[in-house]
Order: sequence, then structure tokens, then C-alpha cells
Amino acid sequence: IPTLLLRPGRIGSLALDHRMLMGAMHLGIEGDRSQLGQLAAFYEERVRGGAALIVTGHAAVLPEGGGHGMYDLTAADHREQLRELAGRIRAAGGKLALQLTHTGRYARGEETGLAPRAPSAIASRLTRETPEALTLADIARVQEAFAEGAAFARDAGFHAIEIMGSEGYLLNEFMSPLTNARDDGYGGTLEGRIRMSAEVVARIRERVGREFPVIFRMSGDDCMDGSTTPAETLALARALERSGADALNVGIGWHESRLPTVGATVPAGAFAHIVGAVRGAVGIPVIGANRLHTPEAAEQALARGDMDFVAPARPWLADPEFARKILQADRDGLNVCLACNQACLDRAFARKTVGCLVNPRAGREAEPFVRAAAPLTVAVVGGGVAGLQAAKTAAERGHAVTLFEARERLGGQFLLASRIPGKAVFRETLRYYTVALQRLGVDVRTNVSPSADELRAFDRVVVATGVQPHVPETLAGADLPLVCTYAELLAGGRPLGRRIVIVGGGGIGSDVAHYIAETAALRPDVHAFFAERGYAAAPAQAAPVRITLVSRSEKVAKGVGVTTRWVLLEELKRRGVDVLKGYRCRAVVPGGVWVENDVEERFLEADQVVLCTGQRSRTEWMGLLGEGDRRPDVVGGASDAAELNAARAIRQAYEIAMTL
Ligand code: SF4
Repeated sequence: IPTLLLRPGRIGSLALDHRMLMGAMHLGIEGDRSQLGQLAAFYEERVRGGAALIVTGHAAVLPEGGGHGMYDLTAADHREQLRELAGRIRAAGGKLALQLTHTGRYARGEETGLAPRAPSAIASRLTRETPEALTLADIARVQEAFAEGAAFARDAGFHAIEIMGSEGYLLNEFMSPLTNARDDGYGGTLEGRIRMSAEVVARIRERVGREFPVIFRMSGDDCMDGSTTPAETLALARALERSGADALNVGIGWHESRLPTVGATVPAGAFAHIVGAVRGAVGIPVIGANRLHTPEAAEQALARGDMDFVAPARPWLADPEFARKILQADRDGLNVCLACNQACLDRAFARKTVGCLVNPRAGREAEPFVRAAAPLTVAVVGGGVAGLQAAKTAAERGHAVTLFEARERLGGQFLLASRIPGKAVFRETLRYYTVALQRLGVDVRTNVSPSADELRAFDRVVVATGVQPHVPETLAGADLPLVCTYAELLAGGRPLGRRIVIVGGGGIGSDVAHYIAETAALRPDVHAFFAERGYAAAPAQAAPVRITLVSRSEKVAKGVGVTTRWVLLEELKRRGVDVLKGYRCRAVVPGGVWVENDVEERFLEADQVVLCTGQRSRTEWMGLLGEGDRRPDVVGGASDAAELNAARAIRQAYEIAMTL
């Protein structure tokens, strides 16, 4: 039970009710006046959900340091929008901090219409553009713009500012020898590299006075070879404190770093010790964020003394009542972020508006949630996430809902997927839905397939029976005993072979390869047991499992989001999975698989073949209701199996349930 998270805190002159802030996020609608109501509604919902302080997305202090979906503080209309936003959040009883940003060499010329500017003319791997080096006059101009932005924030009614100095943006670039090759006092020595950030803080402090709260978001670790050292990072932290910062928010990693920092494979609290090192070096409050997505992880980070506040971002998308539920000890009711990035970061990087896989209302807070005028009886057939969401929304709207699930357990494909490394957290979603349905009084019947007569007794029927693995009819040998589907394997009914060929290199095939590699490997705790007792390695194990992933496409794990795909591919490489690209599977025979491309045919020895060759909709329901019956609404994989996508299935289920 969290206790430290619940204590009141203070950032400079700003008193905060507890230790849970909402970190900066981009919704892809910032700066669009037609979306101002939605943006305000998004924040207001999180104010009601208990956020002690909300940090906005980027507000660029100069146009050259902006980009898509960012506020431009030099634009009169954007300033006006921000004033309105601050006013609405104040009126709702919330506290809002404006994040002041200059994106430096991460700016994209095609978006700003200006040449990117940075400490030095060193090309960016992220944008593939080479920025122009700032002159000394430019540096003074940038500093003035930060000071001016801070004064604007104070006058516009914001409660604080956060200066963006991490993630590889301009101020972070001044600090790093990788991006700063200057020899004019703003580079070279450590003092020179610190100087820009320290002067920005000092200049802001001079402009806004002692009272206005100033948070600096600094980089705790750039996760870039050859960048700022840990000792230099602590020197920066001390300099920021001396210059007048009221708190340090410690970010981890650059957008181009090759260490995963936000994905589900990153353990909870993995970077908290880095925040803790900064906290040990300064006397002002320190804030941490990365992978602190559950109350347990956040409380533990505070208990270890690593930080004073937590400022997660995505967990507030997943559950707008993140803090309120923790304050009220309602852990069971919390909708936990999966770190899947599918509906948030992947969309943000594609310059689309942001939503959330597990919360279909994220991004549509301004739409009224209308209760049903006349309560109906509703049957939902299928207890995967689409069915669960349909049942939840229908019940929330006042309908009397019965959910039928043919299997013993709820969850469908989501339950299967929870076995994949990094996806155990999917069980949190199933727990969330189960608790929600219980509280809403939904009649949940497992191990039951309803008859047509039973369904006819309901006013409305929603079919969410999901998908089943597709086995290509043309694949010779698919019925041999060495063959199984991914679903059979993940359900745990098949022991692993020693030479395994996975047919299908899409998202599921790649996930299955990861699952097999991890399941077959010696467990980390067994390794640790021997290592701690002085063995260089664990005693010899049985012959290692050989895994080959056969992909028709040259692009393996196609369709997996941009923030996740590279992590998955590196996992497969690290675990020694052989990947065969551009080959079709022609036939399975006892002892192996024949694969081919336009040039050659190859035989792959195998004692197990796992088919990850797509899905097809479960269509048993089609025969259930006949002519004259009202057609049911069909959602999720049952309506379209071509692109298995939980975010789409949940969103569609929500939308259908809103029409009942
Ligand atoms: Fe979290 Fe996934 Fe929702 Fe993003 S889409 S907030 S990562 S659950």
C-alpha cells in the first residue's frame, strides 16, 4: 500500500498535494485551435483524476526549435490558446506547468520551414539533417527566448515551467561532446558545456523572480556512447541548482539511443538509480519518470530515496484517474499502461493524434459520455478484449449486460499474448476489465456458448468471438505431428522441440521466436545462483534450442510499431534466432521443412514447426442467428482478422457500445 506517494510535497513556492505528477506528453493536437476544447478536456479529466501537477507538451521558444504538434511561443494565436488552456485548468482546480523547448538538431526543416540550429553543425541520425551552428548572437537570442517564454507562462497563469534539457534537444546537445564541438566558451571544457543550460536557468530566474517555480528536465544518462559521463551529469545538476532551478526532472536516453528506455521489456524502475544519483548531488527535489508505471514501482523508487516525485506520462493516458485510484487505494481498479506504444508514441512519431490501446476514450475526452435513454438487455459473445470493452461500455451506459465466453478464462488472444516476454503486463488489463465488469454488475458466464434461443432473448447481441490461427490449405504436411499453431504453443499444450522452425515472420512469428528463445534459455535466477557462488557459468546445459524464423517478407516483424520493432529484432539477434528472409514455406515433412524463394529451395531440419501464418475470424456465430433475427453487431477480430490489432478492436467495441 503506497504511503510515500501520498505525502504532500513542494517544488519551490508551489505546494503539491502528493507526489504524483503527470509528465509531458504530445497529443498531436497542440496548437490546433479547433482542438483546444479537446486538449483542455483531456487535462481537466486528469485534474479530476488527481494529478498534482500536469506538464504540457513542448512549447517552442523559437520557431526554428519547434516542430509538428508543438506550440510556438512566438505566434500570437498560440499564446492566446495557451492562456485559455491555463485558465481552464486553473478553473478546474488543477496546476499546469508549461514545458519550454528548443528542439535543436532534432528539429525538422520540412516542418519548421527553417534550418535546424544546434551547438555545432553535426548531422542528426534521427532527422538526417545537418544543423547550422549557433553564433554567439544566436545563443543570446535563444536565452532571451527562454526567459521571455517563462515570463509569458507566469503571466498567462501557468503554475510553473519546465525547461526541456534532455532527450537530445538543444540544451542537452550543448552538454554532450557528441553534439558540441565549440571552442568559444560554450563547449570544450565541462564548464563550457554546462554554461548554456546554467545561463538559461539564471536568465529565467532573473526575469520571473524568485517565486515562480522553475523545473529543469535534465538528462540523467544520454545512453549514447561517448556522451556526458555520470560525474559530468552530477556537475550539471549542481550547476542548475546554483543557477536557480527549483527541481530537476531526470530524463533518460536520446531519441536516437539504442538502449530501450520506454518499451515493455525494460524492467520497472530500471533507471531509478540514475535519478537517485542526481538526488544525492543536490538539495532540491528530484523527479523521475521512466518505467514507473505502477504504484508499486513508483512507491519503491521513493522508498529507496531515488526521487521526491514521480512524473509518469503514458500511465495517465491509460488511466486518467491514475493518482486518484492510488490515493484511494483502488489498485484493483487501475488500468495499467502496457508500454506497448501502439496508440501513443508510435502514432506521435508518425505525426498522428495520440490515443491509448487500453483506454479508448483517451483523445476523445471532449465527447460526452451519454447514458442510454432506454436500458436494454445486451448479450456480448466472446470474452477477449473487444468483448470485454463492449460489455464494460454498454454496462456503464446503463444496459443490463451478459457476457458469454466459451473458454474457461477471459482474455482470448490477449491472454495468449501475455506469455510473450515483456507482455505479462497484459494480465493487468484483463484484471482491470474483470474488476470493472464485476463492479458494473455484468453477468459473466465462462465455459458457455449460448444457443440461438438464448441470444434471441436479448434486445441486442454483440459478437466478439475473435480469431483463430489460419493454417494455409496449400501447405503440404500441415497435419503432421511436428506441426502446431502459435496458439497451441502459447497455450502451453506443447513441449518445446530442440530444432524449431517458425513459419511466418510477422509480428506474431517474431513474438513467438522471442517467447521460445526466452523459455528455452537458462533462467536469469539460475544463472545468478551459480554466478554468486563463484561459477563462471552455469553447468553445461542440454543441447541449446535452435530457432529459425522464416519470413516471406524481407522486412521481418512488419507492422510492429516503430518504437518497438527495433527492440524486438535486437532481442532475436541477441538470443541467436536465425532469421531467413524472403522465403516461402513449401511443405512440412517428417524431420523438417522445405522452403523456397525464386532462386532456390532449402531444407531446414526441424523437430517442431510452429505456424504463425495469420488468423481468420471465428465465424461459428454466423449460423446461430437466422433470417428474421436482428443482425448482431460484430467487433474486433470477428469482424476483420486481416490486421490483428487490439487497439482497433477495443476502440471499435467502445464505439459500437456507445451506439446501443
Ligand atoms: Fe500505454 Fe500502450 Fe496506452 Fe501508450 S497505447 S499509453 S503504451 S497502454
